[in-house]
Amino acid sequence: MRQSRTAHHFTVDVEEYFQVLALAPHVARESWGGYESRVERSVSAILEILARADARGTFFVLGWLAERKPDMVRAMARAGHEVASHGWDHRRVTEQTPDEFRDSVRRTKRVLEDLTGAPVLGFRAPSYSIVAGREWALDILLEEGYRYDSSLFPVRRPGYGYAAGLRDPHWLDRPGGRLVEVPPATLRMFGVNLPAAGGAYFRLLPYALVRLALRDFERRGVPGTFYIHPWEIDPDQPRFPVPALTRVRHYGGLGRVLPRLERLLTEFRFTSIAPDFGIALDSGRRGDWAPRAAASP
Ligand SMILES: [Zn+2]
Repeated sequence: MRQSRTAHHFTVDVEEYFQVLALAPHVARESWGGYESRVERSVSAILEILARADARGTFFVLGWLAERKPDMVRAMARAGHEVASHGWDHRRVTEQTPDEFRDSVRRTKRVLEDLTGAPVLGFRAPSYSIVAGREWALDILLEEGYRYDSSLFPVRRPGYGYAAGLRDPHWLDRPGGRLVEVPPATLRMFGVNLPAAGGAYFRLLPYALVRLALRDFERRGVPGTFYIHPWEIDPDQPRFPVPALTRVRHYGGLGRVLPRLERLLTEFRFTSIAPDFGIALDSGRRGDWAPRAAASP
């Protein structure tokens, strides 16, 4: 298989199998401490396949988890990957007040920076929950020292999606400064943006869709952003009794993710987000990277 020249972004939302928002109605947050932890094992497996492919990635880690699994976070950084923030305890931005959101992203940044000794520059909201009307979250990210966001999913879906968003990485001009936005990859087809970036779509839809999407990014000379969760490569995780639709979306296709990941890493080159855009180097600099706005619909 030929490998592309464009390096795409490989990203991992690091959370336990019992912290998934689709399961939240069935798993009380207060009971998290009582479940068997399985995240480290899956993260190790992901680190291993990235190493074999000589690829780098960005790991968006929950502060709650970093505090409990410091060695896991250090291992990511030691292996040359970027450690970024997924917020403290997996609450949607839509369930938080601005003050609660600020506290969550501030605490998480501090814990991760203490562990890795490197600045945390990126944020991804649980369930891509920076939706229309919650743009104040972007301003708080800037104020708290973040340099990029990866939460605006330019799709129209019940409960999430930022339909007005651009498909390619771009600058967001906010009253307090500029933030790089790195949306998860979509495929433009039949006049709509299809999610083609990973997660359930990677498990349940044909592999060819993800490949098509990334090739399309390459034609424009722009990196596409792929995402995966540690629990998605763990078919043996304890299952919660959930309704049929949730069962399919959450537990469907778990067994095919590892082989698909291996294939993806053979066919495409991947790197982490912040170093790719040169925004890691010194936090005062704006960066000289510019969006290719013309390529976005
Ligand atoms: Zn998440």
